[in-house]
Amino acid sequence: MLMNRRLLLAAIAAAPTSLFVAEHSVEVSGVPSSAPRAVLVRLAGDCTDDLPTVTAGKGPLTVGDLPGAAAGCAPELAVFVQGAGLHLDANPDWVAGGMTITASAMTVIPLNVWVVSNSAGRLDWAASDIDEANRLLDENLVGMQLTSATMDETRRLAIGSAEAATIGQGCDAVPGLVAKGPPLYEPAQVNVYFVSTVVFEEDNTYRGYTCTDSPGNGNIVYVSLQRHTHTTLAHELGHVLTLQHSNPPVSGFDQTNLMWSYLETAKEYNHRSAFSLGQAYRMNVDQRSWVNRAASRGMPPRTCQDDDTRRQPCPALHIDRDRGAEP
Ligand SMILES: [Zn+2]
Repeated sequence: MLMNRRLLLAAIAAAPTSLFVAEHSVEVSGVPSSAPRAVLVRLAGDCTDDLPTVTAGKGPLTVGDLPGAAAGCAPELAVFVQGAGLHLDANPDWVAGGMTITASAMTVIPLNVWVVSNSAGRLDWAASDIDEANRLLDENLVGMQLTSATMDETRRLAIGSAEAATIGQGCDAVPGLVAKGPPLYEPAQVNVYFVSTVVFEEDNTYRGYTCTDSPGNGNIVYVSLQRHTHTTLAHELGHVLTLQHSNPPVSGFDQTNLMWSYLETAKEYNHRSAFSLGQAYRMNVDQRSWVNRAASRGMPPRTCQDDDTRRQPCPALHIDRDRGAEP
């Protein structure tokens, strides 16, 4: 049924309940048709039922019945595409039959990386961890891309040097680092320090640690060269981008989630692979995410609910595409 927005609004005036428009397809231009994507359709606002649907696959996706507005509710369309930025439309003008969205550029996260080690080979470890974090962001359709200076000798600091002492072993060093400024600490970048051991809070040692409650505005990450795994940096970047741990009492996750913590072995940590769509949404939209604190991105930021049982103002944290259906 052809129904433009004006007719839709007229129909809403007559029908107080939620109303559906016939099946539509959503296509994305500017990315290969082979690029995986997921379309999340929901009702946002003061809704008792947000009716979220997730459709995932490749090429144009038929997203089924689309919600029209209802009292206190507004339809919202979020399109996650590999190789493109999140497309969020808080007021989609559904087009009967189908709509084509133009892919937007991925959000770039510049990393300022330093490696404190007397071994040149540790530069390769850092480069490998960055590549892996980029791959995980890409695979999970987060719409963000890490960039960093080439991992050459200029990024390596000898143990015992003055710069290494300023970097320290954890968040206790942050005030000194921030005071020191560039190039050791870059206020407008995410600063990642690979150090031998990460020690913080009464001598606990960590695989990685993000200093969220610090004058560094949550843009300082420490990674332990002794204890890191391939997923440590991606996990810490999740914290930088506002995510909390996904362990119980948070519901709906298992230990394949990248924000799952308190595992036993490095093998278990390396087995983590997923950011849910609900998490990717928050990384992009929540005003506490570093990308929104660093710059305005033309996406009205909001404060997502911490209560994972609530479905507003952001979609449920664990909402995800069906990964079992992927080839
Ligand atoms: Zn953590």
